[in-house]
Amino acid sequence: MKTKNNIVCSFCVMDTSVPDITFDENQQCQFCKNHKERILFEQENYPNYLKKLTKNIKRKSKKNQYDCMIGVSGGVDSTYVAYYLKKVLKLNPLAVHLDNGWNSELAVKNIENCLKALDIDLITHVIDWNEFKKIQKALLESSINNLEIVTDHAINALLIKTASKYKIKYIINGSNTSTEGIMPSSWMEANQNKQLIRSIFKKFYPNHSIKSVPTISFLEFFYYLLIKKIKFVPILNFIEYNKEIAIEILKQEIDYKPYRYKHYESIITRFFQGYILPEKFNIDKRKAHFSSLIVSGQMSRDDALEKLKEHPYGDIQVMERDKIFFLKKLELDKVQFEKIMKHKPISASVYSPISIMVINFIGRFKKLLRKLTR
Ligand SMILES: [Zn+2]
Repeated sequence: MKTKNNIVCSFCVMDTSVPDITFDENQQCQFCKNHKERILFEQENYPNYLKKLTKNIKRKSKKNQYDCMIGVSGGVDSTYVAYYLKKVLKLNPLAVHLDNGWNSELAVKNIENCLKALDIDLITHVIDWNEFKKIQKALLESSINNLEIVTDHAINALLIKTASKYKIKYIINGSNTSTEGIMPSSWMEANQNKQLIRSIFKKFYPNHSIKSVPTISFLEFFYYLLIKKIKFVPILNFIEYNKEIAIEILKQEIDYKPYRYKHYESIITRFFQGYILPEKFNIDKRKAHFSSLIVSGQMSRDDALEKLKEHPYGDIQVMERDKIFFLKKLELDKVQFEKIMKHKPISASVYSPISIMVINFIGRFKKLLRKLTR
């Protein structure tokens, strides 16, 4: 799906496939402009932060077996965080992994190799597949643009509750401005929303409720943040993080095997981002990933435009294979799936209007706070 009069930003590769994109007089979009500002702010203000942070982590974890917690997916970002904490900052993290049944073999190998080489303890939470499958089917049928909302939500819930159990105060994650700072909110329904997941599940499976998948409500979330004082730290924002260099270090030091595209360590993520999102929602997330890399100087705009000419999947044969796997695993037949693919996209606010209002309010509040603190 491509619009006829597609306008591309003159600085990055975001374009009019984003409904709320705006351009200035030089045809530069708001996404890369804001992103550049944020990177400059971080470069100015964060150099001393890492030293302070490491000191604080060590001080607060003196009596604990573990200094901090990390979530691992087998992807570059989280693997590099594990490496950096252990080898550079000499911290002892506890790793947590959510096995949602969709890991690629390569991802499992990467997690095993990396943590073994780094001597990091791992807790793996294996999700009840039967329940999880139904929730994912409901999300797929709902036609909202975030099939991964339940995985992302469950990971956050699992991390924060496990941290509390082990009396760990710092959850260090691999989210980072330099390689993923650009992501239009209209391209992804928010994953903090337990109510939305519940509403959609109830609509398509009226006699079921979520029992085993880890979830966390707004109230619980604030309890852990404000009372238990558990912090999420996006550590890659405080160091010079270059993805290519990170991959080289990991390949050499812990036998890491890279993937073709970002987040392709999970079969459902690559099928969702490489097939469902572009085909059904006209969303090609590579544009946001590449644009982030352009702004942080890790990719040229020409290279990005050239790469975007390739199919989002990279390899069509892999796509066909994944499609068969996807349908079989979710127990969907081709006709059902084609019907879902043809259904028009639906906004999440149709399913859970109040929770979406709350999320939007919190989002605006956070933005305002960020502006004020600057
Ligand atoms: Zn732009």
